[in-house]
Amino acid sequence: MRPFGTTIFAEMSALAVRTGSVNLGQGFPDTDGPAAMLDAAAAAIRGGRNQYPPGPGVPELRAAVSAHQKAFWGLDYDPDGEILVTAGATEAIAATILALCEPGDEVVCFEPYYDSYAASIALAGAVRRPVTLRVVDGRYAFDPAELRAAFGPRTRLVLLNSPHNPTGKVFTAEELAQVAALCEEFDAYAVTDEVYEHLVFADAAAPHVPLAGLPGMWDRTVQISSAGKTFSCTGWKIGWACAPRPLVSAVTRVKQFLTYVNAGPLQPAVAVALDSPPSYYEQFRDDLQRKRDRLCEGLTEAGFAVLRPEGTYFVTADITPLGGTDGVEFCLALPERCGVVAVPTQVFYDDVDAGRRLVRFAFCKRDEILDEAVARLRRL
Ligand code: PMP
Ligand code: GLN
Repeated sequence: MRPFGTTIFAEMSALAVRTGSVNLGQGFPDTDGPAAMLDAAAAAIRGGRNQYPPGPGVPELRAAVSAHQKAFWGLDYDPDGEILVTAGATEAIAATILALCEPGDEVVCFEPYYDSYAASIALAGAVRRPVTLRVVDGRYAFDPAELRAAFGPRTRLVLLNSPHNPTGKVFTAEELAQVAALCEEFDAYAVTDEVYEHLVFADAAAPHVPLAGLPGMWDRTVQISSAGKTFSCTGWKIGWACAPRPLVSAVTRVKQFLTYVNAGPLQPAVAVALDSPPSYYEQFRDDLQRKRDRLCEGLTEAGFAVLRPEGTYFVTADITPLGGTDGVEFCLALPERCGVVAVPTQVFYDDVDAGRRLVRFAFCKRDEILDEAVARLRRL
């Protein structure tokens, strides 16, 4: 693990604290999730639900995940054996890769990729085969020939994150079909990271479509999500993996020795949150869309070339119009220059040049924080 150092998120948040900067680096909201969820957690703690919960997760959370999958995506998962509760999506991803990959197996993923992917692949002794998302006509896209070339006889799985962090890209039906066809052709599993499933904005070119719902894909897909983003509780680390029984069984075998179980009293509270009325999910998305627009406009006025995201709560921007040539240098100097922290996205690429001039800002913050950040950035 030596090459992995400290995660960029910890590094940039520490920089924000040290310099008293507005932190638009690490993605976490600065307001709390639904009151009913918070009350349910407090009640569970006061009510004595403080010992080890069952291995697969508390029954009411597995039932709630199952109902949510059915209601939003039309997917059927049996709460008894096809759903595993994990310590956030991060553990679900790690345990799944460790469960499915032998040393030397290859994992196809799109870069820029969420930083834990490379680390989890390395922990399994597997090899990552990144396919680069490049900006074409203001949109992030991949070359289908490059995707095909990434698959081969050692491909074990493809790791797909849509809506995608850090680009905000939502994979279209056509792109998902290309991924699905290659999974079938090369008999590969798909592991989908859908933590931003409820953050696809109204003007996106495509709605969120889980890969597991495409013909032939349910049997070979481990679908992963978590409560952190949807219910603004990133510190709770409650996530889940949904898959056919043999796959969940394999992931459980690994998970039991990573963490055994996690956060008992928070699980029934997340079950309450998942049961929120549709208006909760709509308002959550609309609020974030408004924040996206607020920050995108501000960044444009400040001189960035903004790549407006279709989903997630991140926006990437090119620093070239501001005279920047390297995102790492730019982000390290930014607190001194104007008191704002952002994340250089080149750290999420193997092909560093593809992301050299891109930086990422999080807009999951109160309006006054976004406005303050923009006022500071306009001094650049
Ligand atoms: N995947 C992506 C794409 C993310 O942005 C994050 C950050 N929340 C995670 C996984 C990790 O989620 P969790 O906090 O539930 O482990
Ligand atoms: N997912 C969040 C981000 O991308 C935070 C991740 C983390 O701190 N590990 O910024």
